[in-house]
Amino acid sequence: MENVIIIGTGCAGLTAAIYAARANLNPLVLEGRQPGGQLTTTTAVENFPGFPEGVDGPELIIRMHQQAEKFGSRFQYGVVEDFEPMGNHNRLKVDGVWVETKALIIASGASPRYLDLDGEKSLIGHGLTSCATCDGAFYRDVPVCVVGGGDSACEEATFLTRFASKVYLIHRRDTLRASKIMADRALANPKIEPIWNSAITAYLLDDEGEVRGVQVKNLTTDAESELDLKCVFVAIGHEPNTAPFLGKLATDANGYLIQKEGTHTDLPGVFAAGDVADHVYRQAITAAGEGCAAAIDAERWLAEQEG
Ligand code: NAP
Repeated sequence: MENVIIIGTGCAGLTAAIYAARANLNPLVLEGRQPGGQLTTTTAVENFPGFPEGVDGPELIIRMHQQAEKFGSRFQYGVVEDFEPMGNHNRLKVDGVWVETKALIIASGASPRYLDLDGEKSLIGHGLTSCATCDGAFYRDVPVCVVGGGDSACEEATFLTRFASKVYLIHRRDTLRASKIMADRALANPKIEPIWNSAITAYLLDDEGEVRGVQVKNLTTDAESELDLKCVFVAIGHEPNTAPFLGKLATDANGYLIQKEGTHTDLPGVFAAGDVADHVYRQAITAAGEGCAAAIDAERWLAEQEG
């Protein structure tokens, strides 16, 4: 029986691990399909306090990981497949094996959304991706596009101008949702061409099955056109990683875990932190703050059980 299991090694999970380890709870931290979470797919983080020059997302995560390890957190690779509340404790099926824990901190984050077009999933890695940091360098001196109008889309489009000959920014409205500084930076870049009020309706493939372009519909005129490009970078938000908990823990209509009080979910001893429960702020710093709060909530809950 573990004292506390933390699911996830993004900002929320690692901060929870640092706090839980320093509270002598000997936490077991599960690293899932994307160790390090979303910060590993970003470039310079300019708004994390303490880094006036900015810090690389992956570097920030590595440092948090080292800090959690330094205080005794144990890390294990494993995908959580199922979850069962057992009354006074909980159990998780991790890669086919059930493990039991008194307290559970869910910090499993959120995953990128795609456009839901025909054949889409099989194109990932063949000219379709959600990670400019990971794949941008493969597309040197060729046109690409980014879909979306938020901070992610602007950040990715700006980053991609380092490599691509041209970056179309395809957005379904005529204004960007992104913060002004990110939007201004993107729109001022001569390599970025916004395609307003438009949606991709189909991926166009070459003989090898790689993306060679997209069909785009103007949503105000319904006119369809084609754009020649080599890669589509989708940046239209995320979905919470809550599959094992659906129907067992309270979630909102979009599947985000609901925090009842502090980071407590509706089940005793189960806590939620970061993007798995937050569709409002979704920042590295707020995720870290919630990870801290979840570890403190878990520590107090465990003390109450023993007292
Ligand atoms: P977001 O703010 O939710 O923006 C998603 C964008 O995708 C919106 O423009 C939305 O259009 C569009 N969209 C959604 N579904 C779509 C669909 N099916 N087809 C076409 N377009 C679709 O997501 P985000 O940009 O990933 O940002 C998430 C959070 O992370 C935000 O809080 C953001 O501030 C933060 N973030 C911060 C930084 C930074 O500060 N360095 C970098 C990246 C992200 P509408 O505008 O029409 O809704």
